[in-house]
Amino acid sequence: MQYQRSSQLFAQAEQVIPGGVNSPVRAFKGVGGTPIFVSKAKGAYLYDEDGNRLIDYINSWGPMLLGHAYEPVISAIKERADRGTSFGMPTELETQIAALAISMVPNIDKIRFVNSGTEACMSAIRLARGFTKRDKIIKFAGCYHGHSDSFLIQAGSGASTFGTPNSPGVTQGTAKDTLLAQYNNLQNVQQLLEANPNEVAAIIVEPVAGNMGCVPPLEGFLEGLRDLCTAHGTLLIFDEVMTGFRLAKGGVQERMQIAADIVCFGKVIGGGLPVGAFAARNEIMNYLAPVGPVYQAGTLSGNPLAMAAGYAMLQAINDDATLFERLDAKTAYLHEGMDQVLKASGIDYTINRLGSMISVHFDARPVIDFDSAKNGDNERFKKFFHGLLQEGVYIAPSAYETWFITDALTYEDLDFTIAAVAKVIKSL
Ligand SMILES: *Cc1c(COP(=O)(O)O)cnc(C)c1O
Repeated sequence: MQYQRSSQLFAQAEQVIPGGVNSPVRAFKGVGGTPIFVSKAKGAYLYDEDGNRLIDYINSWGPMLLGHAYEPVISAIKERADRGTSFGMPTELETQIAALAISMVPNIDKIRFVNSGTEACMSAIRLARGFTKRDKIIKFAGCYHGHSDSFLIQAGSGASTFGTPNSPGVTQGTAKDTLLAQYNNLQNVQQLLEANPNEVAAIIVEPVAGNMGCVPPLEGFLEGLRDLCTAHGTLLIFDEVMTGFRLAKGGVQERMQIAADIVCFGKVIGGGLPVGAFAARNEIMNYLAPVGPVYQAGTLSGNPLAMAAGYAMLQAINDDATLFERLDAKTAYLHEGMDQVLKASGIDYTINRLGSMISVHFDARPVIDFDSAKNGDNERFKKFFHGLLQEGVYIAPSAYETWFITDALTYEDLDFTIAAVAKVIKSL
């Protein structure tokens, strides 16, 4: 495949946008080469500016659970756009999507909409700090909770790809309130809680991690966090920006039957428009302005186009009784196919999967946390990535990302992908 026009467009973009992109991981720094410029997308396929068709395993980094340009979402946006794009005043639609989300997700009474996952997580910890009157938070190495200051400490994927896990511009003062633990290591969390008695407002976690590849929680990890939080008066925040409405209607809380105190959303909840949200039971949510003292706001929050897209998306998910079975089955099929190919090749590998999240690691050891994710053979991953791209299969341009399976993928697409993996693996 040729990517000439994409390369030219990237050169032009670099003149006027830092690094040519508006979000770093798009820039292919982790794999080398220059990014693909998209012209349009439909279902499971991307069409780039050179006229190539690619099978998409990123799906806008998660939102496109039902495929690109999903008709009910597109028509909802068009219909709303004719009525005006922003008012800064309440609309009925906001109540409708809030009520629907609350009916789908366990343990939440109220939800506040924002414009990104970053905003959702940032607001959730402010709320947790206000509610508990404590300053510190615990986060896990390799978990990403958006780019706000408190979280840019060993933040996984984007930040890790570039080897600058601690961004300049984040002050020592901020960093000192973020305590760092190893994913899947309860003892580590317990030690931190005991060393900082009555100081930890919240533990924030990706309940299935997706920003160091896909790293599912080990048996008992989430239950253990729940118990530790309850024992220490600390709030448990599930960052379900990636997993919410993807691993089940009610996210990981439903799938693994564990109650979080605050839940963050993004990605799928906006159906491809910029939306985030955070939610909790009344006691906590009533701490937010204008009811309570914790301030949080947004000129475009609850934007009618974004809410229309999100509402159409959530309705489609809610009305589809077999969606998650189909997604799991497709992902399991891809898993088995790639497993056979990789096993036959003799290359060291591990495939992690949970629901419609899956990742291939070029290391034979189990990948259970950030350190083990870093063990993977990055040089091999780069060749794997570019090989697949040549075959017309687009995976994330970083070894620290999960693949996102969409319902629009057919078994033919999956067979094509497995055959492409087989071909590429031979050349590694
Ligand atoms: C993507 C992501 C975020 C940040 O969301 P943005 O919309 O990119 O700001 C936060 N948490 C997790 C788990 C994510 O995957």
